[in-house]
Amino acid sequence: MQTDLVAALDIGGTKIAGALVDGDGRLVAQARRPTPGQAGGERVMAAVAEVLAELSAAPQWTRVSALGIGSAGPVDAAAGTVSPVNIPGWRAYPLVARVREAAGGLPVTLVGDGVAMAAAERWQGAARGYAGALCLVVSTGVGGGLVLGGELHTGPTGNAGHIGHVVVDMDGDRCPCGSRGCVERIASGPNIAARALAGGWLPGPDGDRSAAAVAAAARAGNGVAIASYERAARALAAGIASTAALAEIEVAVVGGGVARAGEVLFAPLRRAMAEFATLSFVRDLRILPARTGTDAGLVGAAAACREALHPAR
Ligand SMILES: [Zn+2]
Repeated sequence: MQTDLVAALDIGGTKIAGALVDGDGRLVAQARRPTPGQAGGERVMAAVAEVLAELSAAPQWTRVSALGIGSAGPVDAAAGTVSPVNIPGWRAYPLVARVREAAGGLPVTLVGDGVAMAAAERWQGAARGYAGALCLVVSTGVGGGLVLGGELHTGPTGNAGHIGHVVVDMDGDRCPCGSRGCVERIASGPNIAARALAGGWLPGPDGDRSAAAVAAAARAGNGVAIASYERAARALAAGIASTAALAEIEVAVVGGGVARAGEVLFAPLRRAMAEFATLSFVRDLRILPARTGTDAGLVGAAAACREALHPAR
């Protein structure tokens, strides 16, 4: 029997998505449910089980050999548990065991959503063909994943590459993680917006106070908006340049909602990279926008699963 498909789950604070993914990264069947985020842990698991039931009813299910999960973090891949910040009903929740049970005993691989995005970009996107890459998701938070020696580097608990909590300002503001001056504390969408508002930027008549609205203002020449993106870009550049010096990565792939600001973010990011990444072995590092889109979480969960099954693929 052909076993060329893997099942993938992408678990976030707003939706639980599932798919059957073929060897070329195509989604051949899909299911999704909203995440009952504020409900108890068993309600959230029931939504996951519904997604799995829908997938297993697809005729292609017999070709599935394994299942990959990309989950909002923190995750503990070694223990098989997750504690997503936005799903309070799940704390050290034994997701791998529960999913394995619901999926008829298939082997299950768990990674954090940042690692999943890196796996997707390495398989199908901008990080393809590079031996060393840092992939960043700049959104409500800042996450990431690493490719080292041509392979996904997940770390023991599946969280390696979490660039969002690399400290780039030793005397900076307290971060919700408990540290201070983290990349995320400066470069996440909500922090870009809060800094612009504190600097005197006024939202337009529609009242939109998002980072996307700040980006539109920056594009229109608003100095405070431009400065807020500039600071976010410098924080990202400091994190990327430090990673490059440590691990000799060749490329940094930047995705997530904030990256949709385009040149408002990428132009100051490249300028700051020229300032921070100065040594011969990091100077040529390339900054690229992510290529995988809304399905990155599913494609990445499938990629991480395939890599776990066949490390030398
Ligand atoms: Zn932090």
